[in-house]
Amino acid sequence: MRIVVLAGGIGGARFLRGLKTAAPDADITVIGNTGDDIHLFGLKVCPDLDTVMYTLGGGINEEQGWGRTDETFRVKEELAAYGVGPEWFGLGDRDFATHIVRTQMMGAGYPLSAVTEALCDRWQPGVRLLPMTDDRVETHVAIEEDGEKKAVHFQEYWVRLRASVPAHAVVPVGAEQAKPAPGVLEAIGAADVILFPPSNPVVSVGTILAIPGIREAIAEAGAPVVGLSPIVGDAPVRGMADKVLAAVGVESTASAVAAHYGMGLLDGWLVDTVDAEKAAEVEAAGIRCRAVPLMMTDLEATAAMAREALTLAEEVRA
Ligand code: GDP
Ligand code: CA
Repeated sequence: MRIVVLAGGIGGARFLRGLKTAAPDADITVIGNTGDDIHLFGLKVCPDLDTVMYTLGGGINEEQGWGRTDETFRVKEELAAYGVGPEWFGLGDRDFATHIVRTQMMGAGYPLSAVTEALCDRWQPGVRLLPMTDDRVETHVAIEEDGEKKAVHFQEYWVRLRASVPAHAVVPVGAEQAKPAPGVLEAIGAADVILFPPSNPVVSVGTILAIPGIREAIAEAGAPVVGLSPIVGDAPVRGMADKVLAAVGVESTASAVAAHYGMGLLDGWLVDTVDAEKAAEVEAAGIRCRAVPLMMTDLEATAAMAREALTLAEEVRA
């Protein structure tokens, strides 16, 4: 079975770990969000690709959900001693090595997709990890800070500001001119099942869908498309997805997120059991819906979610 998953960082990566357990023989292609990418200290950092790679490769800081396990911050401390920031972005020593290798390879002319493949040679994530595009795309957020209207990089909004000021707009800068990375459209076309994990619908899955050709390929694919809600009980399970949903005019409910993707894209949608009463509304919108436990508390619970998603995919296929 060929499964394609559109993934952001933590939500996507944790779900993928469950999916690998639920479908050990499946051939899984992950299309990763690169809208969160940022250049820091002259290095290209790809937070979502790395979160997927480290999580599936066994190098993730489990409690934090991002960054390396057993990490130290000597380089960052030394940079700070020179007065070189930003100090709000956590880059550990082990993590730095990944960004150095990536930047060096890109400087030598390799596209991000080839670099990602090379990094995965070490981590062996057990999935094919593709960036959504080899072109530079950066999500920016329009905000008002201290009475001043401005656009900031998504990481500045998310990490420095902790989404504490309202977002007026979320713009994946460069997406319109970007092309899907090699293999992305082919994987979607050849998929037996396409899954949207409980990733951020705006700045993770939404950004991937903003690359011309990807949304269309998914809508036209023969494979059933099933998503899992990142919103449980009208709030994100972790993080501040409600803030960016508000920026695009979508309520933070499991049913509103399903409607935002729409029946043109989604065939099936899983909501948590606490949102069971929302299933009828989702079905009325033309999307098959089931209420099942959606908390990724441990590997077994996450694998059960993946099994439910695959079962729903079979159901909508029939
Ligand atoms: P990011 O790039 O690290 O922000 O990660 P993603 O975009 O992949 O996922 C973030 C989303 O995952 C957030 O909106 C969370 O609500 C959601 N999430 C995290 N843990 C869980 C969980 O256990 N269950 C569900 N249903 N969603 C979760
Ligand atoms: Ca992210």
